[in-house]
Amino acid sequence: MKTFLLLIYCLFFTLISQAQEYEYFYNFFTNSPMQGNFYFSRTSSSGGSSVKNENNKLPVSETQFHTPGNALELQYINSAGGKWQSVIYHHDLRGVDHFKKTTFLSFWVMSPAAITPSEELPALQLMRKDSSLTAILKFQPGDPNEWKQVVIPLGTIKDLDYKTPGSCIAIVFSQNKGTDGKEHTLFVDDMEFISSNVANEPEISPEIMSAKGYAMHVDIAWEKITDRNVRMVKIYRSENGKNYIPVGIQQPYINRYADFTGETGKKYHYKISFLNMKYQETKLSSSVSVSTHTLSDEELLTMVQEASFRYYWEGAEAKSGLSKEDIPGRQNMIATGASGFGIMALLVGADREFVSRDEAATRLVKILNFLEKAETFHGAYPHFINGLNAKVEPFFGSLDNGADLVETSFLMEGLLAAKEYFSGITPKEQIIRKKITGLWEKVEWDWFRQNPDSKFLYWHWSPDQGWVINHNLIGWNETMVTYLLGIASPTHPIPPGMYYSGWANQDSVGQKYRIAWGGTTDGSMYTNGNTYYGYSLDVGVSNGGPLFFTHYSYMGYDPHAITDKYTNYFTNNQKIAKINYCYCLKNPKQFKGYNENSWGLSASDGPYDYSADEPIPARDCGKITPTAAISSYPYTPEESLKALKTFYFTYGKFLWGEYGFRDAFNLTDNWCSEIYMGLNQAPMAVMIENYRTGLIWNMFMINKDILNGLKKNLNGGK
Ligand code: CA
Repeated sequence: MKTFLLLIYCLFFTLISQAQEYEYFYNFFTNSPMQGNFYFSRTSSSGGSSVKNENNKLPVSETQFHTPGNALELQYINSAGGKWQSVIYHHDLRGVDHFKKTTFLSFWVMSPAAITPSEELPALQLMRKDSSLTAILKFQPGDPNEWKQVVIPLGTIKDLDYKTPGSCIAIVFSQNKGTDGKEHTLFVDDMEFISSNVANEPEISPEIMSAKGYAMHVDIAWEKITDRNVRMVKIYRSENGKNYIPVGIQQPYINRYADFTGETGKKYHYKISFLNMKYQETKLSSSVSVSTHTLSDEELLTMVQEASFRYYWEGAEAKSGLSKEDIPGRQNMIATGASGFGIMALLVGADREFVSRDEAATRLVKILNFLEKAETFHGAYPHFINGLNAKVEPFFGSLDNGADLVETSFLMEGLLAAKEYFSGITPKEQIIRKKITGLWEKVEWDWFRQNPDSKFLYWHWSPDQGWVINHNLIGWNETMVTYLLGIASPTHPIPPGMYYSGWANQDSVGQKYRIAWGGTTDGSMYTNGNTYYGYSLDVGVSNGGPLFFTHYSYMGYDPHAITDKYTNYFTNNQKIAKINYCYCLKNPKQFKGYNENSWGLSASDGPYDYSADEPIPARDCGKITPTAAISSYPYTPEESLKALKTFYFTYGKFLWGEYGFRDAFNLTDNWCSEIYMGLNQAPMAVMIENYRTGLIWNMFMINKDILNGLKKNLNGGK
């Protein structure tokens, strides 16, 4: 199972030193994505002392902040014989693993009233990796109601390996020597390690390039920022054109902000400014005016498609035009499978005129030029490619330093759809077709059998370690596309019989494999036959698994046209989507926010790691993944539309951003992912389109190699 493998690999995760990767600030807090409390904090108290908390986490203030929209509120009482403590953790984001030099601890603090004597101020300490605390560090707030930056040289802190950012895991405030029994309040914000305590003025002036109103949000964009003196972009909104209030910030590598106002039919005015490295602000830009307005269901679908498309268009890796793994995340690293999905989203973007056909074609030529020079292994691409040198990037560990056949399949799925879409006679479109044919014909699918008699295809191959990972591909999961493409290859085909001997294998190898990852014998024979929530499931392990199984292979392959001995895959996928929906409705673990309007379990980012959630209690952690319900659009249009509307209208304030829906959220834990994932955004754009017009299915399925492959394969069918 791919996603389980991901988890295993994360254990072997090693930092690959790569000087040019984008360096992030080592950060503890800028804003909480959720109202109420901050997920990555903990509070405790005893005796007569206390610290204000919500479920033992620090509360978040939306009225007092240094950077909009919020800050942490530290309200406490020091009592004799008592103790209180609050801990603010650094939290890892996938691929945010290269940091600027760490020289100073910096944070901003404000107290509404003077706190005297100073022993009534909290003790400030840093927490080391082994949970031990440093000596107490001194700090002093400024005048009441004035935000003040506290800067402490890390080199002065005893026994702290401060040059290795990961060796400091938290910032701790606790009761010092004070015992006055009174309530004191501090607000803290923008807690991070910084490299320098000086800052230059940005050399550019802020200017808003475009603003567009939607149902409940306004999308504003500015020129891409290359000036390294810009720390953040600050966004201001006004309802009367006079009083501008700060509503949000954006990181400098994203040139767009989605301001979710929550109101339809209202006029707003916007300005932006730049903050330098010391948060000093430039003058404000000139203003733009824009209104939110009612959207029809069709317009709402287009809005979600366009925002998801932007992940691959504006958010692409710069050198290649291909997809990043996640944003924020590694900025020079390409994710191969996500790139294939992104190419399909590019076709949606051209067809719906988010960009012109010629712009899309130009991007694709750039992509193909890069792919032609990128490192391959028997024609197959690695999971991750370094955009700067086009070589394999072993992001999941040193074993995974060669080919990834499944990621390659997702890439080829996108490329073959693009080959048929760009069917024009312009030189550019002719070049596209020629280049795609070249890449497709180079993939040695048959090599990935390990030996000529093997029943199975294997997921990986390493140039220096061979078949060390040794993961054979066995369905039912997201890898059907790999067998179908292998059979369809005109140059290096695998025998059509491998569909049954490998993918749908029914001997002990296949059974053991399925039982191991399904944790059940249901579906261990590939076929299932049980009824779940009233749906009799022909094929699937457990009761169907995470919903991405029903998306990845079927963005290109029209499941209506895939019928084997056991089932038709549109019908079977539809049942799996309905089972997922019914499970969320039943909600056996009573998680908050699961209902007929908010559902969908699949693989996505979690607070501490990626997890593949399934509609069974053991693999349901309370996390809803928007792409699960939305990308199931062709199977469950009514249920998917209801979910889409809830995700936007009800949860948009935290869930909607510049690239559409953030990856996942958990209302029980009051957590929302801060990232967008390359594997999850495109399926929304593509599967909505497949429901609306069938565009990607139609393009992919007219490819002659694909048609021939299906004929060969289905000979063994029915
Ligand atoms: Ca803030």
